[in-house]
Amino acid sequence: MSNKLIELKNLTKNFDDQQVLRGINLDIHENEFLTLLGPSGCGKTTTLRIIAGFEEPSGGEVLFNGIEISKLPPYKREINTVFQKYALFPHLNVMDNIGFGLNLKKVDKTVIEQKVKRMLKMVGLEGFEKRDVTLLSGGQQQRVAIARALVNEPKVLLLDEPLGALDAKIRKQMQIELKKIQREVGITFIYVTHDQEEALSMSDTVVVMNNGEIQQIGSPTDIYNEPENRFVAGFIGMPSMNFFQGKCCRGGEYGTYLQIGDFAVNLTEEDAERVFRKGYMGEVITVGVRPEDLVLTEEGTEHEVLVYEMLGAETYLYFTYEGKDVALRTNADTPYRRGDRISFCLRNDKLHLFDGDTGIRI
Ligand code: ATP
Repeated sequence: MSNKLIELKNLTKNFDDQQVLRGINLDIHENEFLTLLGPSGCGKTTTLRIIAGFEEPSGGEVLFNGIEISKLPPYKREINTVFQKYALFPHLNVMDNIGFGLNLKKVDKTVIEQKVKRMLKMVGLEGFEKRDVTLLSGGQQQRVAIARALVNEPKVLLLDEPLGALDAKIRKQMQIELKKIQREVGITFIYVTHDQEEALSMSDTVVVMNNGEIQQIGSPTDIYNEPENRFVAGFIGMPSMNFFQGKCCRGGEYGTYLQIGDFAVNLTEEDAERVFRKGYMGEVITVGVRPEDLVLTEEGTEHEVLVYEMLGAETYLYFTYEGKDVALRTNADTPYRRGDRISFCLRNDKLHLFDGDTGIRI
């Protein structure tokens, strides 16, 4: 990983008597695309606003290149922000919107023009200089806002749900564009979203937050494949991971196995070793299994398909087991429909085991 650019050290923030950040520790690197992901109200925007300088932390430190900056005003930081409501100046054309900051700094007109043109090319709006911003589509306006932030050549770009106002298709397009732009400018992007798919598809690093605390920091693959606790496991994935209660048992032909309702699942050697070593033998634990790791079988207890959902390349079948909703992913050409009866088993090499009380990964 490249050099550390920003370090958040034990950051806390209180609003009145509500603590909204509870000790955030995070290193952000040069050239990294890092996303803060979490449910509404978990403290993502507050963290971003502290990095930008719009908010002062109640405790802890913000270091930029090793220097404490929490008292430095926003305009003195080499950081720019793009908001969801991009607030372009309606009376200025595209060129003047993007060049606004440079104009204020009395940068030479021809230099501004060159820089704006370069930015427009990067965001895919070549030739739009003289356009009226109020007549642009939402996606085009957001590109102008991004160009306006990037033209100042910041070291870091903060993006707070920048695509939230766009419809699904343009949003997807802009996600790819943004990723390309980040590669091209080679600066750090800190992105805030509550959309897990967006976070996974764009980021080098995802920081999952809940209730003012970081739950996990990792690559999208780490976060998806090895969630550190039940919260992360349940928050990531669409549809969400399925959870079962399983008793850790040993004996007979099964070796070490989990008893989940009326069926038993053999544990892999590796899982069995951890369960044993950490003292869970005989205990009831939480077992997480992604919909793609549930397999249709010919035999076994049958369950009625309650919902059939065809999503083009794949199909989800929903049923209940032990009183809980379960989602199973299968091929698009599955013959099963609502009302049919199916049997299933779990891929035992894909189980996620969590402590039944704390929800921490075993
Ligand atoms: P969202 O996805 O909804 O934007 P978020 O994760 O970005 O949520 P924050 O905006 O950081 O969450 O807010 C965290 C908590 O702090 C919320 O409970 C919010 O109501 C509270 N909060 C944020 N700003 C202020 C403020 N200026 N005064 C008082 N409370 C605030």
